[in-house]
Amino acid sequence: MAVRCLIRVEGIVQGVGFRPFVHRVATELGLAGHVGNDARGVFIEAQGEPAAVEALIDALRHRPPPLAVVEGLTTAPLPCDGAAGFAIVGSDRTGAPLALISPDVATCDDCLAELLDPADRRYRYPFVNCTNCGPRFTIITGVPYDRPSTTMAGFAMCADCRREYDDPADRRFHAQPVCCPACGPRLVLRAAAGGAPIDEAGDPIARAAELLRAGAVVAVKGLGGYHLAADARDERAVAALRGRKHREDKPFAVLCADLAAAAGIVRVDDAAAALLSGPQRPIVLLPRRTGRGSVAVAPSVAPGNRDLGTMLPYAPLHHLLSRAAGGPIVLTSGNVSDEPIAFRDDDALARLSGIADAFLLHDRPIHVRTDDSVVRLWRGRPQPVRRSRGYAPAPLSLPVAADRPILGCGAELKSVFALARGRRAFLSHHVGDLENAETLRSFVDGIAHFRRLLAIEPEVVAHDQHPEYLSTKWALELDGVELVAVQHHHAHIASCLADNGETGPVIGVAFDGLGHGTDGTLWGGELLAADLTGFARMAHLEVVPMPGGARAVREPWRMAVSWLATTYGDRWPDGLDVRRRHGSRWDDVAAVARSALSPRTSSVGRLFDAVAAICGVRDAVTYEGQAAIQLEQAADRGERGSYPLPLDGEVLRGTELIAAVVTDVLAGVPVPVVATRFHRGLAVGAAAACAAVRERTGLAAVALSGGVLQNQLLLDLLVGLLERDGFRVLTHVRVPPNDGGISLGQVAVAAAMGGAPPPAATSI
Ligand code: ZN
Ligand code: ZN
Ligand code: FE
Repeated sequence: MAVRCLIRVEGIVQGVGFRPFVHRVATELGLAGHVGNDARGVFIEAQGEPAAVEALIDALRHRPPPLAVVEGLTTAPLPCDGAAGFAIVGSDRTGAPLALISPDVATCDDCLAELLDPADRRYRYPFVNCTNCGPRFTIITGVPYDRPSTTMAGFAMCADCRREYDDPADRRFHAQPVCCPACGPRLVLRAAAGGAPIDEAGDPIARAAELLRAGAVVAVKGLGGYHLAADARDERAVAALRGRKHREDKPFAVLCADLAAAAGIVRVDDAAAALLSGPQRPIVLLPRRTGRGSVAVAPSVAPGNRDLGTMLPYAPLHHLLSRAAGGPIVLTSGNVSDEPIAFRDDDALARLSGIADAFLLHDRPIHVRTDDSVVRLWRGRPQPVRRSRGYAPAPLSLPVAADRPILGCGAELKSVFALARGRRAFLSHHVGDLENAETLRSFVDGIAHFRRLLAIEPEVVAHDQHPEYLSTKWALELDGVELVAVQHHHAHIASCLADNGETGPVIGVAFDGLGHGTDGTLWGGELLAADLTGFARMAHLEVVPMPGGARAVREPWRMAVSWLATTYGDRWPDGLDVRRRHGSRWDDVAAVARSALSPRTSSVGRLFDAVAAICGVRDAVTYEGQAAIQLEQAADRGERGSYPLPLDGEVLRGTELIAAVVTDVLAGVPVPVVATRFHRGLAVGAAAACAAVRERTGLAAVALSGGVLQNQLLLDLLVGLLERDGFRVLTHVRVPPNDGGISLGQVAVAAAMGGAPPPAATSI
């Protein structure tokens, strides 16, 4: 009494060993039929005992392969036929592609064992992979996911690899990037053009490691782009890398061979170990270890930073290189200052020749430039700082379904776009800061690639309200789509809501750098009453001028001028070093601050800048958020004091806080104490303002978002105070609180609006 059944499985079911898994289980259960990939996922026809068919369906639902994500499973009865045996059939290329693309996956334990086994035919082969690991998103050129639709298309499998690929019992059964030393990509070491000649013969990895140990900078082609590597213990090498890359202070990430090696430079607890060694392998920001038993990392790796960005190898090449190097190596993106990371060979050789002494190259093309992801731990949970390699393009669920396909364009800095359909949002890899033609091109090309891969043709395009953002300008030129302008901080709060699977309403605390406000000022210290469809501005930080506009962002001392002028008028307090340091320029900037020329802002990020400059921590920055980061780093965690930040109507009186900072600084109170009192004052003021908004609205949940809330000291203090006061607090877990999470908020807002343009402000 046999039955026959058609089963369709959707989700991340391609490139993750799904068909071999189905084949194995079906064969064990004595079922006849076949399994194949098509554009929507996996289709199965199974015929046999009803209990056996049930058992197969149960296994698909509850015990899929480790990297698979089953999002939908449907069954339909079919008339029985005379089929015998179970087969894997070729891909069906018809129909609209709906299958999900797997992110890149770190080398699995089985492949690592082969890599290190002298008896294995892939011993020390830097491209070993299988159905459970290896490159995916970065090499996929189209769907369905099959070898011809990857950058492995040009490598013909040898007989041995073909046998593994065709053997249902093999771990490499239908593993698309399968290869070996006989048939796959090769590594070469090359001297930089115009640089010192090097010996290019011999084992490229051993030679590259020797060069690293000798103090050289080596460009390494990885999974999603080129890195620049240097011995992390060698101050001269790391300082040279900084100089040549024009990267003055921004911390470098460090690659360690394994968990034990990582534990030599940073404190690794269970949560950190799980994150470091998970399949995504992000850079994890962890507290630096010092003293006995620790490995000394050169000061130039992360100047003045208590944390170190630490990463374990995610590709076989990195395993081999980090082992051969014999110690931690700096592995930073292969670019000059703020340009996008290089990922094409000719471009990398041209752009990085002035930086790298040698190039460790291979001939497997990278299709999508994908930077390393960066994650930190907060209360033992991951909090993304940059969501890219290993995560993109895995979908995030939306709290409301999008009736029509939506594109979210993101903001400007840390650009990430999003495509959404139904309950799924696909956030892109990190595109970079959309401030130049090259990044804009990679933004536009990236959107086109995602549209093809996911077969999502956006009908609604959500964008920031800032008229000068390149992403806004690009969106405004699109034809035949409905545009939805989403206010920047509404998008931040919507992003936090969507991140937590909620729709609001909540009190949204958006503490941020800068975003275009609805009143012509630049916002960034906002308390909103918001849900996905709209918001009302309930309170905000006192508004001050930003003398010099963009220059005030690069030169925090200008914000000190602004805040001091707002606090004291022209009766400057005597004896402030920050004023002395800037001599006659001080009065010029003060005049600009008082003029109508200066944009006005309620940004908390700019308040951090002012306090950092008043304390003498930072007068000018070389990367976004530097002054705030250093103020957080400086804080004395034992200090209990606080500065006043009273709510006066709808305004948080920052001038009172600044006056208290000035009093302490003039009294010679140490910077670490001032820094902590400032953080606590801000947290207490914000929490009290939330309580006042709760009084007016009845809202008892708070969502925290915006780049400033990457500050863990502020987050700890604020969340603690809010929870003590009975609030339910939402923080980010899947996307960053910074502008890298904005596009999720934009598509969530557009989905909730059903595409209708939101009013500038709505009351809840
Ligand atoms: Zn593997
Ligand atoms: Zn081979
Ligand atoms: Fe922002």
